[in-house]
Amino acid sequence: MAKTLTLEDMAKYPFMPEAAEEVRKLGFRIDGLFEADYAPILERAERRVIEALTNNPPEVRYDPSLYKGNVEMLSFPVAVALVTSLANEYVKRRYALAEARRAYDLLKRESEEKIVEIARKFGWRIRFSGEKSGVIKFDFALNFIDYLRNAASFHDKDWKLINKFVINGEVHLSKQEVARLLQEEIRRYIEGKIDPKIRSALPEKIFERAEKIKQAYSSSFKELPTEDFSPSEATEEAFPPCIMELYRAAQSGRHVPHVGRFALTSFLINIGMSPDLIVDLFRRSSDFNERMTRYQIEHIAGERGSGTKYTPPKCDTLQTHGLCPGMDDICRRIKHPLMYYRRKMRAMKAKRVKESKG
Ligand code: SF4
Repeated sequence: MAKTLTLEDMAKYPFMPEAAEEVRKLGFRIDGLFEADYAPILERAERRVIEALTNNPPEVRYDPSLYKGNVEMLSFPVAVALVTSLANEYVKRRYALAEARRAYDLLKRESEEKIVEIARKFGWRIRFSGEKSGVIKFDFALNFIDYLRNAASFHDKDWKLINKFVINGEVHLSKQEVARLLQEEIRRYIEGKIDPKIRSALPEKIFERAEKIKQAYSSSFKELPTEDFSPSEATEEAFPPCIMELYRAAQSGRHVPHVGRFALTSFLINIGMSPDLIVDLFRRSSDFNERMTRYQIEHIAGERGSGTKYTPPKCDTLQTHGLCPGMDDICRRIKHPLMYYRRKMRAMKAKRVKESKG
């Protein structure tokens, strides 16, 4: 199996850590970007953002005859800087999706070895399968947690775990399915790279170029609310029934199935609970192993592996796994446990404000 990515791979998959390392080795610095030599890189970076905003469905195109490998690779971090400077949740999501779709198109045409190599860089436990179910032969076997992390947000019933060929905790998949799951992993990874904390380190000229894109494509911009919760706001009272059941089960040391642990942990992380507190929550479990528990929690929190923070599965996935204990009024108006939490928190705040006014 190939062990390292080639320069051509880095042009195709410029978000990979090897590409970032190569950019560093080339001595490329964003504050030197506005020198004449770098004009093709800046132009390609702007085109990446514009294509993400204007292509329908969103997709950044890849045409090696138009841009040199180095231009492709170097333009990616510049495009990320442009999107970061725009500080717009909608643009961020659309850009990450457009880059991930481009990667999906390329991955479908790669060898099995290359796909495994790339997937393992994201911490996936994946191997070649060759397993058969009837006349269907599967190319890959993927650990079911890695599968679920990525398939949980898909609507199509074909992606439900009960409709998959699963043996000993591994999901057997075709090449196209693995490429689609990787698209999802890459999308989240790129979203994570668009970090508002780096805005203060960006040169003023990046903001000026981004502003020009905004002016020229203003009709493609939308405002979305950010989904961050403040840790101080994490409150059990706003938990949806499914999470409350899992939370109580964990607190009292009752068995929580794998999917339930993933749903509970990712939910708590997303509402701002610290990994330390979540480790403590599982302490009473009969099979508790602090090292393993901490490792899994930190992985879901994006502090290990690919660095992406995971969100809990949607309601229909939890229902499929028998983890929805029954809906209340809020449940009937939402599709995701985090949406439940957000609504309930809003309602609780509004009630407090009303009460304070007498
Ligand atoms: S409907 Fe969704 S949020 Fe409500 S209990 Fe079921 S899975 Fe949880």
